[in-house]
Amino acid sequence: MPRTGTGSGSTGDERFVSPEQREVSAFTTKRPDSLEAFVGQEGPVANIRVMLTAAQKRGAALEHILFAGPPGLGKTTLANIIARELGVNLTSTTGPLLERPGDLLAILTSLHERQVFFIDEIHRLNRAVEETLYSAMEQYKVDVIIGKGPGAKTIPLNLSPFTLIGATTRSGLLTAPLRDRFGAMFHLSFYAPEELAQIIGRKALEHDIKISDECLLSIARKSRGTPRVALRLFKRVWDFAVVAGDTEVTTKLAEESLERLGISDEGLDEMDRRILMLILKNFNGGPVGISTIAAVLNEERDTIEDVYEPYLMKAGFLEKTSRGRCVTQKAYDYFKVPYTPDRFNPGPSVPLFEESESGSGEDA
Ligand code: ADP
Repeated sequence: MPRTGTGSGSTGDERFVSPEQREVSAFTTKRPDSLEAFVGQEGPVANIRVMLTAAQKRGAALEHILFAGPPGLGKTTLANIIARELGVNLTSTTGPLLERPGDLLAILTSLHERQVFFIDEIHRLNRAVEETLYSAMEQYKVDVIIGKGPGAKTIPLNLSPFTLIGATTRSGLLTAPLRDRFGAMFHLSFYAPEELAQIIGRKALEHDIKISDECLLSIARKSRGTPRVALRLFKRVWDFAVVAGDTEVTTKLAEESLERLGISDEGLDEMDRRILMLILKNFNGGPVGISTIAAVLNEERDTIEDVYEPYLMKAGFLEKTSRGRCVTQKAYDYFKVPYTPDRFNPGPSVPLFEESESGSGEDA
């Protein structure tokens, strides 16, 4: 049974290293390496187990799998775990790195039987590469074209049966022919605070960091339902503890540290607040198009859509409508602004972010 990082284990205080030792111990980026060690996502994990067992009983390659969901929820981790559970290697790349069909062919032809091939950001494959993938996924075959023009020759090539695992933050951008070639598609959802607390607790244990359950939960609640964020915040809080020379991460220290990092109780950071404030103040609550938001905030549209919006919607601050993005009453309450939106008549344009324009970067 995995130990938690509460410090209440039988090993007692002697297992917590001194501050000097802790300062030199680098924070590991070790990922969970088995389905047992993977916290949460019970639905997908149960289905993956069945698929793994079936593939092993059949002695065949596991079906191709697509993971969808916001960044940091564990798509890459699950791909690695699957390869490990199958006892095979994982070859990994990202969609934009595969510029030509030849780049893909080079990888496909080097795959061994039942190996896992992981493509992150699979929605960003270009058309020619994507089309090469179709027959590779369906029949483990590719056509290699040698030469150019009328003299070009097509040589069919058999591939070793392999498993493609695709990850995407934007399943809606995947073409239907590509999506249809996956045997299973799993949407990963945001984690509950208790699950995130468990993930941080394990990391604390790995590093012999003393931290109470209450403190774990307090960090977890501000982690946007995302393990990557939870681990990052925990690391930052731990930095504060090391600097203060503390031997334990207390709830008080965690809360003070996160406040200093600009993380609010709901886990909103400065960019979240800028997005909400923009819609609320300059567009009278919305609706406003994503391109406008991106242009005004000088942020990539993809980043807003992939990283910020999913959590703002999940947390109930933002809604997507056919006319654009609108903030909810919860956002008005959060900023303590009276709720008087008239969504179809943009309100007066209130000067925004004067402070950030003048360079302070603070807006809430
Ligand atoms: P994604 O590929 O979806 O962007 P990652 O797989 O890279 O996310 O996960 C981000 C970080 O969070 C990694 O350090 C990973 O170990 C950790 N993590 C993600 N999901 C879990 C989980 N369910 N249990 C434990 N750690 C997790």
